[in-house]
Amino acid sequence: MRTITNRIEDAINAVYAPRGYTDKDIDLAILVHCLGGQALLTALNRRLAIPSLRTLEHKHAFTQVEVTTGRIQPSHFTQNIQNTILAPLQSSPLSPALSGHTITIGEMAIQEKADFDGKLQMVLGICHQHSDGVNLRLHDVASAECICEKLASGECHLGKEATIIAVTTWGNNSIHPIPAAPSCKSETPAEIADTMKQAINSWKTTGAHNQLGPIWSVATDGDATCRRGFHDFLLKDELDFNSPLYRTMCLLPGLNLQVGEGDITLDFNWKHIFKCMSFFAHRICIANIFIRYLYTLTKPQGHCA
Ligand SMILES: [Zn+2]
Repeated sequence: MRTITNRIEDAINAVYAPRGYTDKDIDLAILVHCLGGQALLTALNRRLAIPSLRTLEHKHAFTQVEVTTGRIQPSHFTQNIQNTILAPLQSSPLSPALSGHTITIGEMAIQEKADFDGKLQMVLGICHQHSDGVNLRLHDVASAECICEKLASGECHLGKEATIIAVTTWGNNSIHPIPAAPSCKSETPAEIADTMKQAINSWKTTGAHNQLGPIWSVATDGDATCRRGFHDFLLKDELDFNSPLYRTMCLLPGLNLQVGEGDITLDFNWKHIFKCMSFFAHRICIANIFIRYLYTLTKPQGHCA
């Protein structure tokens, strides 16, 4: 009660200005912070009364994304799972409830430019597919020139998109990127399948499988490379007759029973499935119109349609 009355007194004395923020205000503040950083957010907070960084941190859960340098390695998955998912659990007094998880993969547009990470002393933004032969550690002018020459000769590229592989938990909205790497979109289906296998294996080797629960599915959008790459190892077996899932799944016509190792299913974005369905619906519609047109050409004169 004392805190509340103090606040009311502060408001009367004009030293505290209570503000109610909507979701739109929070979104605007996040956008300002992403584009202009803390300095712009502080300036606009004072001038336009949009939420401050402190309010943002209080109302919004930020996800820390460690940008991957070099080719994606199994160690990137294990480090990110340890640091962003398992380490925070150790400070929690409650043991986490077991649940199913989905590993999802997608691309996000990024600025096509190189940057410098002072902590790692490395150049960021080079595609992970072709960074094997490039020393990304920047220690003098010669090393910077060497990277420029490799970019100019086409041995490596600036990333056009970031490939993000993340873990989400069924039953809540958490999402943890493990990892995010610049990409020049030149992966083969086999390479992207190997990367996903590393992610699934890392979930087991770090102990996350036992502590948090198994991976239930791998989700992807309509990307053709992912679809082809995941097809061979995630649709290779038919769901076992004795599996508890079988009784439910076998009653759903139109859905297949194919799974990967550990009964992991391959999930596609619904948007692309609907697109596919509307494509065939469109073709059937055109075929109907054409048949009707042929009928009108061949029907007897004077016949009323
Ligand atoms: Zn490349």
